[in-house]
Amino acid sequence: MIAKEVQNGLQNSSWIRKMFVEGNALKAIYGEENVYDYSIGNPYFEPPQSVIDNLKKLVNSGIAGTHRYMDNAGFKSTREKVAASVNKGTEVPLSYENIMMTVGAAGGLNVLLRTILDPGQEVIILAPYFAEYFFYIRNNNGVPVTVKCTEGTFEPDLKVLEAHITEKTRAILLNSPNNPTGVIYSEALLKDMAAMLESCEKRFGTEICVIADEPYKALLYDGAVVPNVLNIFKNAVIVNSYSKSLGLAGERIGYIAVNSRMDEPKLLMDGLAFCNRTLGFVNAPALWQKAVEDSVDATVEISEYAKRRDLLYNHLVSLGFEVNKPQGAFYLFPKALIEDDIAFVEAAKKHNLLFVPGTGFGYPGYVRLSYCVDIKMIERSLPAFTKLAEEFKK
Ligand code: PLP
Repeated sequence: MIAKEVQNGLQNSSWIRKMFVEGNALKAIYGEENVYDYSIGNPYFEPPQSVIDNLKKLVNSGIAGTHRYMDNAGFKSTREKVAASVNKGTEVPLSYENIMMTVGAAGGLNVLLRTILDPGQEVIILAPYFAEYFFYIRNNNGVPVTVKCTEGTFEPDLKVLEAHITEKTRAILLNSPNNPTGVIYSEALLKDMAAMLESCEKRFGTEICVIADEPYKALLYDGAVVPNVLNIFKNAVIVNSYSKSLGLAGERIGYIAVNSRMDEPKLLMDGLAFCNRTLGFVNAPALWQKAVEDSVDATVEISEYAKRRDLLYNHLVSLGFEVNKPQGAFYLFPKALIEDDIAFVEAAKKHNLLFVPGTGFGYPGYVRLSYCVDIKMIERSLPAFTKLAEEFKK
């Protein structure tokens, strides 16, 4: 009774899910304390107190209309606060009319892709990528086109990227800070990319939407800064959420911000509201829009994530792993100690270490470790990493 495409999806879809299930099986055998699960990117810290306090106030307020339908784009008061937050560092400010509240970043990406794609149009994604992009693009009749980033920097090579742009290219999806590498694309690279995209648009007579998927934008280390895509790309649309910054992944609250500099931003906003409605989201959760309203610039304890990054990164480097120090997000993406990342993940499992193979991110030869975990688990796991590395030094 299910479609072939969904059946295929069920079979091939998620390495992360697979590792999560295997982790639970190992925990049942060896006990929770003795399994080191780095597979899943579920925010570890509880939301800031300001969010919880606001939520309690709202629930008890008794204000009529709190739970009703609204404008498909969301509450004006929430959108105003989000616009003010997005405007920090923008040269051309946005108003609430450029913001639509969404059901997380995932909901936002689906709504945006539905709004901009005609069947068969192509969306470029940069490997290593968040694997769900494939499904989001296909859900909305698009064709994913993968471009591999350069090994070591994990930034795209613009010549390689340009070679993949055709008259069918409708969008390019950027994710910085990146899941799984933690890399932030530099301003210089993005400016060169903007010039290249503009020349492609002229050559093909097309418009290419730059989708900046930024759910990790607030999780930055060592003073890192994420370049402002609205200043750099005229056709930029930001998709963001409070899943990671406020630890609200289960509550499904995010937004889309449309560059006011693009041609006809209002038409795109109208299309987004229409698709939010007709895809069945209707609007983002009412209570959660209001709950985040006064906390849009708050974050969970980032210094705690930094501690975890440093502990794990330093240990991996001491064992001879090749690994970039993440500038943001909460993942490490070291090179596997053998070419076959899937075999390496299997070998790690024998030490009760759970990683996700880079193959699941379109980048074989590497593994992803998600360090949004209890720091005590990281401490307990260090000897297992040492044993794993020794196994491959022999
Ligand atoms: N984009 C990336 C790169 C992600 O890693 C995730 C979640 O892990 C999402 C989008 C989806 O985020 P949300 O929970 O806000 O839908």
